[in-house]
Amino acid sequence: MKTAEQYEESLRQLHFKVYVQGELVENPVDHPIIRPSMNSVKATYELAELPEYEDLMTATSHLTGKKINRFCHLHQSTEDLIKKVKMQRLLGQKTAACFQRCVGMDAINAVDSVTYEMDQKLGTHYHERFVQFLLNMQEQDWTVDGAMTDPKGDRGLGPSKQADPDLYVRIVEQREDGIVVRGAKCHQTGALNSHWILVMPTISMTQEDRDYAVSFVAPADAEGIFYIYGRQSCDTRKLEGGDIDVGNKQFGGHEALMVFDNVFIPWENVFMCGEYEFSGALVERFAGYHRQSYGGCKVGVGDVLIGAAALAADYNGAQKASHLKDKLIEMVHLNETLYACGIACSAEGYKTASGTYLIDLLLANVCKQNVTRFPYEIARLAEDIAGGLMVTMPSEKDLRHPVIGKVVEKYFKGVAAVPTEYRMRVLRLIENLTLGTAAVGYRTESMHGAGSPQAQRIMIARQGNITQKKELAKAIAGIPVQG
Ligand code: SF4
Ligand code: FE
Repeated sequence: MKTAEQYEESLRQLHFKVYVQGELVENPVDHPIIRPSMNSVKATYELAELPEYEDLMTATSHLTGKKINRFCHLHQSTEDLIKKVKMQRLLGQKTAACFQRCVGMDAINAVDSVTYEMDQKLGTHYHERFVQFLLNMQEQDWTVDGAMTDPKGDRGLGPSKQADPDLYVRIVEQREDGIVVRGAKCHQTGALNSHWILVMPTISMTQEDRDYAVSFVAPADAEGIFYIYGRQSCDTRKLEGGDIDVGNKQFGGHEALMVFDNVFIPWENVFMCGEYEFSGALVERFAGYHRQSYGGCKVGVGDVLIGAAALAADYNGAQKASHLKDKLIEMVHLNETLYACGIACSAEGYKTASGTYLIDLLLANVCKQNVTRFPYEIARLAEDIAGGLMVTMPSEKDLRHPVIGKVVEKYFKGVAAVPTEYRMRVLRLIENLTLGTAAVGYRTESMHGAGSPQAQRIMIARQGNITQKKELAKAIAGIPVQG
């Protein structure tokens, strides 16, 4: 396994082409806007080195028997699935941000079982190629970006019907030695902190979309791939040099537009090439795993937000007010409900044909559907407890100012024993989580990441088995089966 320092160093060896606010950046690792997101991924290496987290952060490779980072592991049991969620909660607590590495873990687990089933049915050899990649990934302890979401253009039209044919990633050429792909993937979490990209189709495809039914891996800095970095609310505060106003100085997350400008992919890195009938299963499983993931990571971030709200109440001297106690109870209740779903869909997981365990898809979708709602309510309650000062407070520069600093110190003091700076720090953290850079991960990503709410409702409709429920009702009510 890589140490945290080796991970950081390995990223420096890559030749990323990334644009940040209109400028081509040579060294993303040390860019002040990108760096906190790298720190979050780095934490997935750091924690794996600590004996107290070994059980959650590492696993035994079913391929080599070696100890590997859990992010490179294929789940071999329901216990593995549960540990995954616990690991994500832990990392959410430690970073209060999106630590990005889960997309690759979820992608390898989905691609494993689907390529196995493809080969069984079609006599193809995708699974062998995938296993070879996985061996390297485990050996090198790579961070892999699971890339699914295409730009999609006109949502009323399928991939091949778009006015611009590149709005879904597609195969533009098949050669003897491989394929050439073009298109883009949107909102790519952790792209610039990844060594490799694992591309998957974004929707269930039909015969006419077969050029779009493509899955492959590519080095994240491969020839022809470039990135345009996503903007986040309050991101330029990171350029100011202070540490209070950013709310969370050390950690963050990122998303980027990933563009494939005629990228050559050798056959050994291709895991699907036109087998459109398997694209739906790949989407469903990747989305299912990632919906499970949210029952861990968002809960960990929620733990930090609840703690911050409780501290804000303490610093205001309001901790004994019964309505504040009740609001904190409500936040805990909502947060643990998310966790319960993450654990439940894992405990109810089952073995697929390849041997890799899949979660219970209905419960994973219920988990994510709750995530589209509860973090918003938790954030609302945190803002309620924090008070309006969270968004009207002066800056760190005012606090540090030789003249007006004393005024800030005096008038923004809560409880006499607590320095004003502590109060400002905790309010800025709540601001960061609910309105700032981390709000991408805690709020909007809770809504749209791993699929927007409607995507889960479609799966819930499909998996909910209303027919069987009608039969149950008939049996109790004394209605004949044909009634
Ligand atoms: Fe991991 Fe959560 Fe970020 Fe997805 S949103 S990559 S599950 S931390
Ligand atoms: Fe996500």
